[in-house]
Amino acid sequence: MAKLNTEILNSWVQMYTSKFKLPETKVPCSNDECNVQTTMFGTNLHERVIKYSGIENLLSTFECKTCRAKSKAQALIAKLTAAKV
Ligand SMILES: [Zn+2]
Repeated sequence: MAKLNTEILNSWVQMYTSKFKLPETKVPCSNDECNVQTTMFGTNLHERVIKYSGIENLLSTFECKTCRAKSKAQALIAKLTAAKV
């Protein structure tokens, strides 16, 4: 499955809103250069929806584990660089 375009994203949001499940159990990483898909359904999915303040936000901004670790490291390096440690 490719990235979620606006049309697909809207249909996923609609399905989650009405049935509390997604058409697929895997959610693609929102990073353009990444093709990793993360399995989400049931409790795991609902918890993530709450954490991301809504299904639409989750689907449009979710990053896979690797990308999150990378973003975190980059933020830390930027912070350390700014502080000239
Ligand atoms: Zn990723």
